[in-house]
Amino acid sequence: MSDHVLVINAGSSSLKYSLVDSASGEAAATGLVEQIGEERSHHVHHGPKGEFNDEQPIANHEAALEAAVRAFETEGPALADVDIVAVGHRVVHGGDRFAAPALVDDELIAAVTDLVPLAPLHNPANLEGIEVARRLLPDLPHVAVFDTAFHQTLPPYAYTYAVPTQWKEQYGIRRYGFHGTSHSFVSAQAARLLGRKPSELNMIVLHLGNGCSAAAIRGGESVDTSMGLTPLEGLVMGTRSGDLDPAIHGLLARVAGRSAEETDHSLNSESGLKGLTGANDFREVSRRRAAGDERAQLAFDIYCQRIKKYIGAYYAVLGTVDAIVFTAGVGQHSAEVRAAAVDGLETLGIRLDPGRNARSELTVSTDDSPVAVLVIPTNEEWQIAREALTVVRR
Ligand code: ADP
Repeated sequence: MSDHVLVINAGSSSLKYSLVDSASGEAAATGLVEQIGEERSHHVHHGPKGEFNDEQPIANHEAALEAAVRAFETEGPALADVDIVAVGHRVVHGGDRFAAPALVDDELIAAVTDLVPLAPLHNPANLEGIEVARRLLPDLPHVAVFDTAFHQTLPPYAYTYAVPTQWKEQYGIRRYGFHGTSHSFVSAQAARLLGRKPSELNMIVLHLGNGCSAAAIRGGESVDTSMGLTPLEGLVMGTRSGDLDPAIHGLLARVAGRSAEETDHSLNSESGLKGLTGANDFREVSRRRAAGDERAQLAFDIYCQRIKKYIGAYYAVLGTVDAIVFTAGVGQHSAEVRAAAVDGLETLGIRLDPGRNARSELTVSTDDSPVAVLVIPTNEEWQIAREALTVVRR
């Protein structure tokens, strides 16, 4: 077997893993342990023997990774038989210290720990995953791949908020951007599809999953992006509000006595599609909309209007646009979102082919559309594997 990377994505109560062939992107096995620390945890492993499911209490991330290693032994492929060259860890926040993937050592762990205040929901879990994996797989190099790294090319006028200057130095308050592995992967794939070099192309990438973000990419480099200090800013998401007036925080404190933590929680976990309709899953919102539900219709309209505004803004930022790329769950599958997001933008040279769009083909624009509209499946695991490889091969 050729060079494989074990990709680990540790969340607060979950551990996702994938054993990826770095050359082809094929996963020899994937797995997910959920509800870690709860009475009943669920472990699913997809390997050469098919799907394996197990339900038993898994106390912590260490036990979760041990369960994963056992599943590799019993369900395959046996880790000893695979040429594993690295373990690649997804790390959400790399601040302004990491513009590229990096080998995990004590210094990196200290740096990622320093960034916890900027990503209190994500970095502690990512660190837990790294520490546990280093203990259980001590003979392999571990590489951290950061969601923020791809956006470190943003110019200062794109990443600086118009707030007192010292906030940036004192507290690290600036835009960082997220979903970098996806934006990087998808924009490179789009260039390949168009038969051009990334350096020759300007693109707007729309990653529409549970989390959603837009990126303006000039010549292969991110020059603006919709997520900011945290993944809360920008587009409307499954449970996150995206852009809003920051005065809402103060108003809720004054009139409702809500603490900063309570409002933060609501904006991250009870807003977006969930806040508007009660359902965070886009398919459910879509079903309700089709059945004539007014709240679902309004949520859909707000969601698509926000995407359209970012397309307009990033069109202006880039000057010329060669491609608009839709990716992730909603972007790849929802023809109605793609159609609504670019509706009326023909004067910008964006011409959708309704038949191609309905079939979610790779190219959904017309042959004569000056701007190509593409649907490209993201593959963050493959991107993490490839980036990890560049570090161990250095
Ligand atoms: P994540 O951001 O967690 O990686 P995904 O990229 O899988 O998630 O996106 C999840 C979102 O995609 C959910 O809102 C889901 O409803 C939506 N989605 C998945 N399949 C479809 C589909 N066929 N049509 C519309 N939305 C879909």
